[in-house]
Amino acid sequence: MNTRALKQRLESLEAAGVAQIPKASERGRQPTAMGRVPAIGSSQPEAAVASSAAEDRVASLRVLAEQVAGCTQCTQLAAARTNTVFGVGRPDARLCFFGEAPGADEDAAGEPFVGRAGQLLTKIIEACHLRREDVYILNVLKCRPPGNRTPEPDEVRNCRGYFERQFALISPEYICCLGTTAAHALLQTTEPIGRLRKRWFTYGTAKVICTYHPSYLLRIPAAKRDVWDDMKVMMADMGVDL
Ligand code: URA
Repeated sequence: MNTRALKQRLESLEAAGVAQIPKASERGRQPTAMGRVPAIGSSQPEAAVASSAAEDRVASLRVLAEQVAGCTQCTQLAAARTNTVFGVGRPDARLCFFGEAPGADEDAAGEPFVGRAGQLLTKIIEACHLRREDVYILNVLKCRPPGNRTPEPDEVRNCRGYFERQFALISPEYICCLGTTAAHALLQTTEPIGRLRKRWFTYGTAKVICTYHPSYLLRIPAAKRDVWDDMKVMMADMGVDL
């Protein structure tokens, strides 16, 4: 497990209520208090390099968010929006959740997945023993399509550079595509979501899994079982015990 994975694993365990981990040398003896992140396994110069890389990543994401805020490529969407919706979460997240496009609540808040579907996504994340702050959440489109219609192919094309750059900067180990639009945009396929589930794909260096969109679960609650099965597969691969 690399340093980033270890750091996030420890934070996830902490979020899940694990307060102490025995040192390898002390297993079977008294547990020691879990150290905070910078102390774990890196020498000072390495820690300094890591923190400057993290600062660069945050700065680059901020510049990109500003570009997105000024984007007018999709004239209809740009004219109608209240806010662009860039993304939220850890800039160095191991796991990204990739949705379709902002709805009315997201357009008003400027943050992805804050409406009913978003509350369900938050519950799914928490059921995975994670918090929203542990992952990164973004959409294919950064502007709300009128009436929440499905994004048009030219709109996905216009936003492609933005989400591709977000993934390049965050460099997640895992991407979970939520629904057809996200899966098709990322994997450049037209296979139905039902056939994309239960398979691993790659995007750059990330492992990709596809599942149903939370809005679909609001309409078809019976599909929650399928999404939970998908989450269990992903969490097992990530080394997170559920
Ligand atoms: N649906 C999405 O795909 N994204 C959001 O941000 C909200 C709802």
